[in-house]
Amino acid sequence: MKIAPANPGHDLTPLHWVAESVREKLERMGIHTEQDLLLHLPLRYEDETQLHGLSDAPVGVAVQVEGVVVGQKIQPRPRRMLLCTLEVDGEPLQLRFFHFYPSQIKQLATGNRLRVMGEVRRGFFGAEMAHPRYRIVRQGEALPAGLTPVYPTTAGLSQRILRQLIERAWDDVDVSDTLPPNLADDLGLPPLESSLRLLHSPDPKVPAMALATRTHPAWRRIKFEELLALQISMRKHRQRRQRARAQPLASNELLGARLLENLPFQLTVAQQGALGEIRADLAKPHPMQRILQGDVGSGKTIVAALAALQAIESGAQVAVMAPTEILAEQNFNKFRGWLSKLGLEVIWLAGTQGKKQRREVLARVASGEAHVAVGTHALFQEQVEFSRLGLCIVDEQHRFGVQQRLALRRKGTDGVSQPHQLMMSATPIPRTLAMSFYADLDVSVIGELPPGRTPIVTKLLADTRREEVEHRIRDACVQGGQAYWVCPLIEESEALQLKTALETFERIQTTFPELRVGLVHGRLKGEEKAAVMEAFKQGAIQLLVATTVIEVGVDVPNASMMVIEHAERMGLAQLHQLRGRVGRGTRASVCVLLYQQPLGGLARERLRIIFENTDGFEIAREDLRLRGPGELLGARQSGMPMLRFADLNTDADLLEAAREAAASMLKEHPDLARAHLQRWLGGRQDYLRV
Ligand code: ADP
Ligand code: MG
Repeated sequence: MKIAPANPGHDLTPLHWVAESVREKLERMGIHTEQDLLLHLPLRYEDETQLHGLSDAPVGVAVQVEGVVVGQKIQPRPRRMLLCTLEVDGEPLQLRFFHFYPSQIKQLATGNRLRVMGEVRRGFFGAEMAHPRYRIVRQGEALPAGLTPVYPTTAGLSQRILRQLIERAWDDVDVSDTLPPNLADDLGLPPLESSLRLLHSPDPKVPAMALATRTHPAWRRIKFEELLALQISMRKHRQRRQRARAQPLASNELLGARLLENLPFQLTVAQQGALGEIRADLAKPHPMQRILQGDVGSGKTIVAALAALQAIESGAQVAVMAPTEILAEQNFNKFRGWLSKLGLEVIWLAGTQGKKQRREVLARVASGEAHVAVGTHALFQEQVEFSRLGLCIVDEQHRFGVQQRLALRRKGTDGVSQPHQLMMSATPIPRTLAMSFYADLDVSVIGELPPGRTPIVTKLLADTRREEVEHRIRDACVQGGQAYWVCPLIEESEALQLKTALETFERIQTTFPELRVGLVHGRLKGEEKAAVMEAFKQGAIQLLVATTVIEVGVDVPNASMMVIEHAERMGLAQLHQLRGRVGRGTRASVCVLLYQQPLGGLARERLRIIFENTDGFEIAREDLRLRGPGELLGARQSGMPMLRFADLNTDADLLEAAREAAASMLKEHPDLARAHLQRWLGGRQDYLRV
């Protein structure tokens, strides 16, 4: 590997001194500049400061030993491998390589002196190591004084080359601080440069533990830097949004008042509070981007409908989008039920509609005759033209992918003004996430359930007791109750999931001929699904066998029992959502979680959490603890730049500090803020706009 001498200023192409093939690999890892190289920090460290003998090597941990190669052969069977015998203090150590390059055969040639790093195992042929990391050394070559960094890397890019590249990058990069004077001191954080130097080549005196757990001040500085970049970026997006224009949707609330008069209930204080915030936003000439959070069953839909009325009263159209057809259908029925009494037109737009019908619907949307269009993401396809879209309502927004959210945002954007957006979610955003990835959104919370709900009793039962459960459910149904029977989620195969649902349906029907049993799953056509749900709602179906399609939004207050099979396979959010289908009426509700033994540690932990908690916020917090923010947000596929170093569970204090610092930096040190953003996010800032 050739590295040209440093030549700062003469060639501004980043990494011009790196061979093309290596550059490609770096780029695959998101490393495009010298600066990126310096910010490419070790995953962990290895202790190469000592040499071990074979006899005193501890079990189960990687150790370093040194010896001379005394033999080498390629063994064809049972599996092709390169075998190499190293003599360590007169004792043989067998090195095994299952994958090897021709170059390795040369490096591991007889007579070469190696330092190898790996776990020593005692096999049938004596001491051996599988796939050790190795390095050719001269006799008596000094041991490194400090720990050796191990970097994230990609195939064909060795640790050694990465280390050399990083070493070389120091010459070209300006690592001066982008924090305003005193800030680092106030926070007890060391300067950036010394932090980076320490992390790339730790001083021997640095405690290994503080590096491994990333609690060392140098690590904390890096995490702070990263969090600060994210915060600055979020704030900038927010500012941009506040400069964008939207049609102000002020209203005299006449329609809303009429709807409220007709309702069989009164809004809770929490609903009123959220509605007040939304109303104030809608009246502004800037696009609202508010997320309405409320636990399952807290009554978000009526709040959304009241917001829609305000928009309609100001002459705008409203789009209501849901992630599944079942949910969209439910929203459609609710909106139509409420709004048609006020003389408003609510139309349905789904992907499964017939051509002719669709054409009619599209025409009514385009002419402005339709006041509200409810549907799935079909609402945001190219052909759908609104006459004056003023408000987009997105139910269960976390279920939508980024592309869909972007399409939504573009819809109705005529270059001058953008529609207001109201998102709804029953998956609460834990505070740390709200402060970081969702910092661009305003949040309203409905923190209480409507009165008169009876708490749900959750039961955990091994599925060996299935029959007993079936009988109990039957008895309850015969006495006027209604129940869901949820079939297991089979992630690998939708077909298999369907098969289980069909089998369960048939079995229950045969065992209890006196019960009216229904079946709903994802493969049913839109109208078939709707018919089944309607029959269940009307009580014509007593027991509804369902796949997880009923997870969100389904609202049948009389259904007070639920059985979830193979609950151990489901995630916390999913279990909470499913369970939220019951406990909506005045009947005492029960949710039975059937699980199959043996339970893994994580599954056991999830079941414990769902058993002990009914508060969605608490469950979401536990979920974050178990899974980390990346998975919780589905962010990897969403293209959101994930945190590489900071951890929202353990670094909440740094996040808090970063948030404050971002605000004051943008105000008082805009140049530093810009430089900081450039350093950490470079070209990736656009991702954040979703
Ligand atoms: P979610 O927040 O999960 O979307 P919904 O909007 O579906 O909840 O509301 C759940 C049920 O509670 C619906 O049947 C709805 O009509 C009812 N509801 C909403 N608000 C109230 C209220 N203030 N008092 C009583 N019932 C309410
Ligand atoms: Mg809902």
